[in-house]
Amino acid sequence: MGNLGTLFSPERVAVIGATESSGAVGAAIMENLLDGFEGDVIPVNPNADEVFGIAALDDISEASDVDLAVVVVPPGIAVDVLKQAGEAGITDVVVVTAGFGEAGSEGASREKQLQSIAAEYDMNLVGPNCLGIISSPVGMNATFASQSALEGSISFMSQSGAFITAVLDWASDRDLGFKDVVSLGNKAVLDEGDFIDFWGEDPDTDVILGYLEDIDDGREFIDTARKVTEDTPIVTVKSGRTDAGANAAASHTGAIAGSERAYEAGLEQAGVIRAESVQELFDYASILEGQPRADDDGIAIVTNAGGPGVMSTDAVGDSSLQMADFTDETLQRLEEAMPDAANIFNPVDVLGDAPVDRYDEALDIVLEDPNVGSVMVVACPTAVMEFEDLAEVVADTSRETDTPIATSLMGGESATTAASILDDVGVPSYFDPARGVESLDALRQYARTQDRTFEDPARFDVDEERVDEIIQRAVDRGSNALGVEAMGLLDAYGIPTPEGDIVDNPKDAVAAAEAIEGNVVMKIVSPDILHKSDIGGVEVNVPVEEVADTYDNLISRAKNYQPDADLIGVQVQEMLDLESGTETIVGMNRDPQFGPLVLFGLGGIFVEVLEDTSVRVAPVSEREATEMVDDVDSAPLLRGARGRDPVDEGAVVETIQRLSQLVTDFPEILELDINPLVASPDGVSAVDVRLTIDQDKRNGGN
Ligand code: ADP
Ligand code: MG
Repeated sequence: MGNLGTLFSPERVAVIGATESSGAVGAAIMENLLDGFEGDVIPVNPNADEVFGIAALDDISEASDVDLAVVVVPPGIAVDVLKQAGEAGITDVVVVTAGFGEAGSEGASREKQLQSIAAEYDMNLVGPNCLGIISSPVGMNATFASQSALEGSISFMSQSGAFITAVLDWASDRDLGFKDVVSLGNKAVLDEGDFIDFWGEDPDTDVILGYLEDIDDGREFIDTARKVTEDTPIVTVKSGRTDAGANAAASHTGAIAGSERAYEAGLEQAGVIRAESVQELFDYASILEGQPRADDDGIAIVTNAGGPGVMSTDAVGDSSLQMADFTDETLQRLEEAMPDAANIFNPVDVLGDAPVDRYDEALDIVLEDPNVGSVMVVACPTAVMEFEDLAEVVADTSRETDTPIATSLMGGESATTAASILDDVGVPSYFDPARGVESLDALRQYARTQDRTFEDPARFDVDEERVDEIIQRAVDRGSNALGVEAMGLLDAYGIPTPEGDIVDNPKDAVAAAEAIEGNVVMKIVSPDILHKSDIGGVEVNVPVEEVADTYDNLISRAKNYQPDADLIGVQVQEMLDLESGTETIVGMNRDPQFGPLVLFGLGGIFVEVLEDTSVRVAPVSEREATEMVDDVDSAPLLRGARGRDPVDEGAVVETIQRLSQLVTDFPEILELDINPLVASPDGVSAVDVRLTIDQDKRNGGN
């Protein structure tokens, strides 16, 4: 979309459902609009001649040249009102009214009606079930919040209206300003993707903040955010992070929260900075708004007390930053400038008797060090230095450098004036040095995001028709689950599989084994038995002379286990050398919001006990697939442990990409597991596969 018309810059705003009754939402919105909006406010109410002294219209069709309509009428008539607004040519609408998707099936069908009217008239519709919107450059507060926003360059969207009221209240105490604020409500039409797209191109928005409970279209969000974050940082707090939280979110806005791992991967792929708390959200926002980018991981700490210096250093240890390694020149200059007792190594301790000039000198020196990408100034109150003087020095320094600075002034009252001096030049100050370090870390994280280059996912030459046939065969059999009988599907996508055959009698089993060199592996093949070894359905290292008996044994075990199981036969497979190979897992799970989520891990306890896996939203590029392998803690085992040769990692990376292409091409594949994919120095081989398909998706197209 990108174009939200005059949603945030209207000249004439109509309030449909305006009233003077105290306590009514329609009254609160009128009062907020009348308090500061530069344009015209037009109340609409058939039962009043005027509202707050302004002549009221009976209905919206009488209005002319209205840019934005705010709808606060009861849900039963909101649909009709929206239609009238559409007829009157109004394309920007905020539906504050509740009683839609969040309110049972009747509400849900009402919401569908809103959607179709919005589509018919090509409307930018916010809500329903929301608090409203604010745009401070035009002084517009079209919400029923008790507080408005100061003007600033942060644009903020929230899926919780209550959260906005809390934030506005909190922000006004801290001089924190906003450009636009949007309460997303049920996101019937406009969602988070539309707003980041718009703000990404808005010259007055420097930072985008979000409080999100779910993301409507994960893939679209990733693609949009990747573009936007080239110039504008996005920071979000996502609620519903624990299972309990997710349940709360579901009952809250009728949203089904996507799985935590999908979010984590999706937001990371999107380049979105994630905050864990409201405090962090605004800490990151203010530093991103006020400070230049951090071009190096190295951080220098300048302090007048040992303890806080250690606290800061610990915080650096928990971050993605590193204590900067000073050059010899820096050390020499510090040695000359500082008293003997001072610590010239990072964290630099200018000592408790330091006058402000000593801080000044130390700062100038460390800022010239090429290994310093950011600076943290930490100070405890002393009798020889006023915080205000220090603030002036830091403010002056920050004007002259393009290295970001944060401060921790560890005092109460005495730090307040100092903080406002710093605030004027965009230098954040905190009591707790750890918050400063974390904020500088977020700044660095954003610089890394900006430096990323994206490559398109590779497209391999594959045999889609063959996959289609294999899936169709299963569908015809009426089964949703497929096992090793579907191995051809991997082959069709160029994923290596061991030599082998599926047979349905002992004689053919022997013939199949004779065609394979050495002993073989034999497995039961049945769509009803997907965990084969659990029922004794896998025999390894079978010599050719035992193949016929093993065939009979496998079949009788399967029949014992599940008499009505659909038995396709037995797979006779080449036996791989697991001494030189490592069992890995490559799989896919479909997330309701982000779509296909590809997973990688090492087999056995690494996945099951240690849960050591990495995930990405598909389709993945080669770089992302490589990162997936690097991200698992057990990756060193692939690189030659216990005297073994390193496995062919390139082949693992390629398999992840090919699987990613397969599941992207076939949305009817709901889940897929290659477990194990045996990785050896000579390449990879998928010895087992299982997948489930969605028959409806298959039959109904998409
Ligand atoms: P399931 O997972 O249904 O029990 P698998 O086909 O994965 O069945 O087989 C179970 C285990 O047997 C594998 O994890 C692997 O350790 C071993 N195995 C299976 N096929 C082979 C093979 N072709 N070569 C060597 N080992 C194999
Ligand atoms: Mg298996």
